[in-house]
Amino acid sequence: MSLYIGPDDVPPEKLKHIINRSYATFRERDVTPVVPITDGMHSLELFHGPTFAFKDVALQFLGNLFEELLSKRPGHSITVVGATSGDTGSSAIHGLRGKANVECFIMYPEGRTSRTQELQMITVTDPNIHNIALGGTFDDCQAVVKACFNDAAFRDKHNLAAVNSINWARILAQMVYYVYAYLKVTPSMGKQAGSPPLVSFSVPTGNFGDILAGYYAKQMGLPVGKLIVATNKNDILHRFFSHGGDYSLDKNGVAVTLAPSMDIGVSSNFERFLFHMTGNDAAQMAKMMKNFEATGTLNPPPEVVAKACAIMESANVDDDEILATIADVHARTGYTLDPHSAIGVAAARRVRPMGSTAPMVCLACAHWAKFPDANLAALGKEKSAALVVPEPLASLHKLDSRVSLQPYDVPTVQRFIEQTIAKRAKA
Ligand SMILES: *Cc1c(COP(=O)(O)O)cnc(C)c1O
Repeated sequence: MSLYIGPDDVPPEKLKHIINRSYATFRERDVTPVVPITDGMHSLELFHGPTFAFKDVALQFLGNLFEELLSKRPGHSITVVGATSGDTGSSAIHGLRGKANVECFIMYPEGRTSRTQELQMITVTDPNIHNIALGGTFDDCQAVVKACFNDAAFRDKHNLAAVNSINWARILAQMVYYVYAYLKVTPSMGKQAGSPPLVSFSVPTGNFGDILAGYYAKQMGLPVGKLIVATNKNDILHRFFSHGGDYSLDKNGVAVTLAPSMDIGVSSNFERFLFHMTGNDAAQMAKMMKNFEATGTLNPPPEVVAKACAIMESANVDDDEILATIADVHARTGYTLDPHSAIGVAAARRVRPMGSTAPMVCLACAHWAKFPDANLAALGKEKSAALVVPEPLASLHKLDSRVSLQPYDVPTVQRFIEQTIAKRAKA
């Protein structure tokens, strides 16, 4: 079964209901508040959902959308199988918990996520949520997921579905907060003569999903100045934009940084943006991607690079600069950034013309309390201890938990999934 959305599938009234339900789980009335920091820079806080990271904005919506579409196909159910290094898994679990006709299996590498990330997953004990701590690395988890999807009989029997970052419904949900933030930082809009003011956005980037949503918002007519691609030390995207289209795999592999949700080698959504930069030329795009798969380098034509650089700029931010930025912003304003959000602010400062006060929105992708070690390293013991960890994060360790340990072995994991689904069908 496929879950294509046609015009009659979700009528406006229903969609409104889905949206209201999805964002009722957020702790802030504004859902994604915009907070001024310094010098015309604003923080777009995307971390007020159930797991304290921006992925909730999309995955709360996706969970309700799945349920709605399934309700129109009586007798149908889906099995979500996903791998996570920490954040995506817990957002997916919180988006799918308790949803009718959805079984959700999330694999994470045992002992390799932060304790907070693990607790955010395994303390969700709804009967349709199945956490798997896999004896292996994140790559091993991904390999198991891939093997499940490539096993046609298994995939079809259980209606496997994915919730990874190329899921279009996720991108769709993320476009909205660009428009919202624009309206928040340009309150005099409509009263001024002349063309509307431009607002730039600095976006901490891993798989390029969040910033791609910003590009689509711009294409829909939002007066966006520049979109700033902010990367950590894993800077394949920065090299593309700042070194003449050099999109090539890092020979040293993926580095471990203070911003783990951005530790990626290749960005799965970047292909979509490049496709538009070729003028939607599928043949040219296929040629480029084939070349990339064969050689590990993209070799885009200069006109494609020039077009991309007219829309986006980039900066890469290492761990020292992350800590320095958290410390500086905290000292000057009392505002606390998490490592990912700090990358957005540092990149904005670097790319912005000297003395500019034009509005700049930095996307704040996670709450600082999800990364207490980085916070301590940046602020020191006294200042860090003075910050209050919000609930329910502070009390996670007191909750019941449920998790299944599995070895890194595809048939064993598949058997576990089959047996679990069979048990659930009987219950
Ligand atoms: C996923 C994630 C990112 C990267 O977002 P992409 O859409 O993959 O570019 C950045 N920060 C945090 C906290 C995340 O969870």
